[in-house]
Amino acid sequence: MLRNDQLAEWDRDNFFHPSTHLAQFARGEMQSRIITGAKGCHIEDREGNKHLDAFAGLYCVNVGYGRTEISEAIAAQAHELAYYHAYVGHGTEASITLAKMVLDRSPAHMSKVYFGLSGSDANETNIKLLWYYNNILGRPQKKKIISRWRGYHGSGLMTGSLTGLELFHKKFDLPLEQVIHTEAPYYFRRADQDQTEAQFVQHCVDKLEELIAQDGADTIAGFIGEPVLGTGGLVPPPAGYWDAIQKVLDKHDILLIADEVVTGFGRTGSMMGSDHYGMKPDLMTIAKGLTSAYAPLSGSIVSDRMWKVLEQGTDENGPIGHGWTYSAHPIGAAAGVANLKVLDDLNLIENNRETGAYLNAAMKDALGDHPHVGDIRGEGMMCAVEFVKERDGRHFFDAADKVGPQVTAALMSRGVIGRAMPQGDILGFAPPFCLTRAEADEVVSKTVEAVKAVL
Ligand code: PLP
Repeated sequence: MLRNDQLAEWDRDNFFHPSTHLAQFARGEMQSRIITGAKGCHIEDREGNKHLDAFAGLYCVNVGYGRTEISEAIAAQAHELAYYHAYVGHGTEASITLAKMVLDRSPAHMSKVYFGLSGSDANETNIKLLWYYNNILGRPQKKKIISRWRGYHGSGLMTGSLTGLELFHKKFDLPLEQVIHTEAPYYFRRADQDQTEAQFVQHCVDKLEELIAQDGADTIAGFIGEPVLGTGGLVPPPAGYWDAIQKVLDKHDILLIADEVVTGFGRTGSMMGSDHYGMKPDLMTIAKGLTSAYAPLSGSIVSDRMWKVLEQGTDENGPIGHGWTYSAHPIGAAAGVANLKVLDDLNLIENNRETGAYLNAAMKDALGDHPHVGDIRGEGMMCAVEFVKERDGRHFFDAADKVGPQVTAALMSRGVIGRAMPQGDILGFAPPFCLTRAEADEVVSKTVEAVKAVL
C-alpha cells in the first residue's frame, strides 16, 4: 500500500479536482483527504477518522453507503455484460427494467426516459429536446430558457449558463444569451420585509410576467427549476409558488423542466418533487437518487405531448441525432434497479419523512434563537441553517466573512460533515435517508458546538 505522504504528493502533482481553489491546493493550504470506505451514514479516511456524512456525498448517496444489494447487482452485471450500447434499438434487461421503474415512479403524463450519465448532461439533453420540439412544431424562434437566480443546473456550456450562481459563470464566457434569469423564490431574502408569503409569490409571478413581456413569449421555450432550490441555499418554495408559476407558463405555452436531480426519488419525502408541489413538467431531469451514486447514471423524462412531436420529428428528419456512448450503461442501469428496490424494500422514503422532520424540528429547537441564525428551513431530508449578522432580515454576512466554511470546518473537526453552500453563509444538511434519530441528534448537538465555536 502507498504511504499517505506519497499519495498526497501524487494528488497535488497530477489530479485536477473539481470545484477546488487550485492555487491553494497546489500550495498545500488545503488538505488532501483520501476516503477509503463507508457504511450507512459514515465515511472513513486513510487516517482512520470516521465522519457522520450529513450531506450524503453531494446529496446523492440516498440509500446510504455499503449496500451490498447494489454492489452485488453491479458485480453480477459487470460479469455478465459490462457494456453494450443503446443506439438503434439496443437495450439490456437492466436498462429496460429501469426505464419501466422510472416511469412507474413519475407523474402519469410522462412517457419515456432517456438515460445519460450526469445531471449536467441530462439537462443538456432536455434543452436540446425542447429546441427540437419547437423546430418540429415550426416555431424556430421559440428557444430561450428562463432559469432562476440561485438555481443550479450543472456545469456544462448550456447548463452552466442556466445555473444562476455567479461563481459558475465567472470567466467562462458561457453562451448566456440563450438564458434569462428571473427572481428566486427565496422568501427569507425578500427585498420587502413587509410582504406576506402570498404577496411574495405574487411578486415572483409579476417579475416572471415582466420578463416574458420584455422578451416576448414567442421567443421563450421553457422554464427550468428545481422543486426546492438546492445548491442555491436549500430553499423550499413559498406556499403556492409552483401553482402560480405553472399558470403563467401554461398561459404563454412555455414548457416546464423540473430539475429533479436532487429531489428525485424521495429527497422531499415524496417520490418526486413534482408530486410534492403539484408541478406539471413536460421534462424532468433525474440523476443522483436514481442510483444513489453507486454508478453514474442520469435521465431525461419526456411527457406524452412532447414524445408525440419527437416521433413526428424522426419521421420527417430521420433518427434523432443525439446519443452518448454510455447512454443507459448496463452497470449504471443494474445499480439503478437495485437502488430503487432498496428504497422500496426498506421504506426509506418514509424514514426520510419522519427523521427529516425530526432533524429540522431539533435544529430549530437548538439554534432557532441564536443571535446569528436568521433562518432554519427544510423539506424532507434537507435542512439549512442560514447565518446573519443581525436577525432583522437586512444584515447579511458577505461571502468574504466565510462564516459557512468556518462553521463547516468546526463541525468536521467534531466528526460531522455538513456543506457550506457556495453563498458562504448557509450550512446545509442532506443526509442519507437511513439516518437514525440518534444520528440526527448528533448532527444537531455537534452543529450547536460548531456554531458556538465560531459565532
Ligand atoms: N441539477 C441539480 C439540481 C443539481 O443539484 C446538480 C448537481 O448537483 C446538477 C443538476 C448537475 O448534476 P451533475 O453534477 O451530475 O452534472
